[in-house]
Amino acid sequence: MVEEEFRNKISTVDEKGKRVWIFPKKPSGKFYSKRKITSYLLLALLFAIPFFKIDGEPFLMFNIVEGKFSLFGQVFWPQDLYIFALITIIMVLFIILFTVIFGRLFCGWICPQTIFMEMVFRRIEYWIEGDWTAQKKLAKSEWNAEKIKKRALKYSIFFIISFIIANTFLSYIIGYEEVWDIATSAPSEHIVGFIAILIFTFIFFMVFLKLREQVCTTICPYGRLQGVLLDSKSLNVIYDYKRGENRAKFSKKIDRKEAGLGDCIDCNQCVNVCPTGIDIRNGIQLECVNCTACIDACDFMMEKTNQPKGLIRYDSEDGVSKNERFKFTTRVKAYTFVLIALVGLLTTMLVLRSDFEVTILRTRGTVFEHNTDGEIYNIYDLSILNKTNRDLPVKLKLMNHAGRIQMIGDEILLKSRDDIQSKFIIYIPEDEIKSLKTTVEIGIYEGDNLVETTSTKFIAPKI
Ligand code: SF4
Ligand code: SF4
Repeated sequence: MVEEEFRNKISTVDEKGKRVWIFPKKPSGKFYSKRKITSYLLLALLFAIPFFKIDGEPFLMFNIVEGKFSLFGQVFWPQDLYIFALITIIMVLFIILFTVIFGRLFCGWICPQTIFMEMVFRRIEYWIEGDWTAQKKLAKSEWNAEKIKKRALKYSIFFIISFIIANTFLSYIIGYEEVWDIATSAPSEHIVGFIAILIFTFIFFMVFLKLREQVCTTICPYGRLQGVLLDSKSLNVIYDYKRGENRAKFSKKIDRKEAGLGDCIDCNQCVNVCPTGIDIRNGIQLECVNCTACIDACDFMMEKTNQPKGLIRYDSEDGVSKNERFKFTTRVKAYTFVLIALVGLLTTMLVLRSDFEVTILRTRGTVFEHNTDGEIYNIYDLSILNKTNRDLPVKLKLMNHAGRIQMIGDEILLKSRDDIQSKFIIYIPEDEIKSLKTTVEIGIYEGDNLVETTSTKFIAPKI
């Protein structure tokens, strides 16, 4: 029963429900080196992206305050909500497909939480407090000059990095120029922005100082979804129990095969390096973020004991139990098909997406009128949203009908990424009108360039 205890509670909680603090051993090895390179490239991208612009628009920005979003330099407004909804569905489906095939590869290699925790904050901790045994010792020790010095240094560096992360995070929301403005002005000039930076800094500071692996094991919904998404064919960091059991300590005097022993020498190194405090030999568990630290630790021990590497490796449950290689299952094929279809639909929508949003409605409470020139006229309300980065002086023209348009008030100057409301009148000669309701097409021109067409109804008296 003791061996099965891991099934009753997560690894970071003791029998009394108290948090068990994890002191993972500093990892090293082939996978760790590759993860370091991947992580630092991704971090460089994360910090650089807010400064990228295409045609003056941010490469990526999610301005929830103004309801303006920029993806790859393309600006989206609340009117483009359907495109965003489709992008969200595609992302969810992509995550499902990715997880069905690659398990939690995202958690270990791409997730910002893991990258910051393991490759930034944890490494700083190793540098200041030493490896896991030294950290344990320091945690237990009385508050003396050395402990105060080390902790003060750690907290200060953690806080500075959290401040940088908070500013970067905010840059993705309101743009780096605005963040710079907040950071360089007196707090009273941008009180909301200043408080937002402080709150985000504090949240990131506490996440990386205290919360740590709890984000992955108890808060992140993606981690909780694994049980539903993974199947026996999904790739995972997995212990080859067929090869490893029966586990027993290593001894040069014993021939393990003859003694009926497996390759696991029960050295516990895979457990010592685990940042979520689990024993991967108990099977795939929700705490495992696929960080691969245990693969490196075990490979090292296998080398030391002249046994083949890969006792812990990336493989599927079927790979271990039936020696089956990865195959495209019907489930994966179905997800892939739907995903390709949705990406096709999104591409079409983006290509057909108009740069302008035009709404023309006949002014409420008005009907047709006659004038002395033998024309009938209707009055309309006009609303145009300019999604482009250009300021455009525009004119309206009738496209399919004799007649003319007259603006009420000034000519229209559409400011970039702005909308404008106006009124205009359509005049049509009486003898050109053939029915009570005529559909008229209206062209919106920038100079001689037709930038958008739309249509509306023109009403007239009984003929
Ligand atoms: S079990 Fe291995 S891969 Fe999973 S979190 Fe622990 S060390 Fe990382
Ligand atoms: S590191 Fe490898 S050999 Fe050592 S206990 Fe873990 S699985 Fe067994």
